[in-house]
Amino acid sequence: MAVTILVVEDEPAIQELISHNLKRAGHDTLCADDAEQAISMVNNVLPDLVLLDWMLPDMSGIEFARKLRRESRTQSVPIIMLTARVEEQDKILGLDAGADDYITKPFSPRELIARIKAVLRRRLPEMSDEIIALGGLKLDPTTHRVFVYSIKDPSKLTEFTLGPTEFRLLHFLMAHKERVHTRAQLLDRVWGDHVFIEDRTVDVHIRRLRKALEDIGKDGLVQTVRGTGYRFSIESAMETASTAG
Ligand code: CA
Repeated sequence: MAVTILVVEDEPAIQELISHNLKRAGHDTLCADDAEQAISMVNNVLPDLVLLDWMLPDMSGIEFARKLRRESRTQSVPIIMLTARVEEQDKILGLDAGADDYITKPFSPRELIARIKAVLRRRLPEMSDEIIALGGLKLDPTTHRVFVYSIKDPSKLTEFTLGPTEFRLLHFLMAHKERVHTRAQLLDRVWGDHVFIEDRTVDVHIRRLRKALEDIGKDGLVQTVRGTGYRFSIESAMETASTAG
């Protein structure tokens, strides 16, 4: 699970230590010495996670976290605060500002990597390489293969093919099952940041994905939520199936 992590830390030795360990863990890193530099980096490339020092020279980490949470482009980026403060009150303040977790300095590199992994698994399940089996489908992100379980014999799997975009779309929807996603959110998370394509494109690929699911008898899993967007749902798919049957 290689992700891009922005490290905002003004102490060069700590920044270097973090960056070195993140690279060793297979992540791409961006490093900023202060909030201003971090903002311009974020405007350029949307990171998958931000490691944010509490005390920065130009703006507090708390203020920076709030700023990220206020803007729609950055509001869902996971944030881990780095702090030398250990008081309960400060931790609450950090979490209130929208941080997902905090790490108290000094920390061990192993703890840092483990915390990052835990936050990513929780916040960005579609970045994980874990196999997802759901609604009679089995999706393997590593091999980019997707299978359907036979209804008569659940031990039997049949592979079916999807285009690369439909595969990523299905992976994202399955990783966030039962949740509704707007077209804009899907564009951001499936197509990537700063991609200038129309919302309509999402509909086109949703249609293709549905057609592929229909062909294997799995229609109803990808649903339109009127006026909002799309979701992958097993519960309502079963309801639809039982009403129809
Ligand atoms: Ca600092």
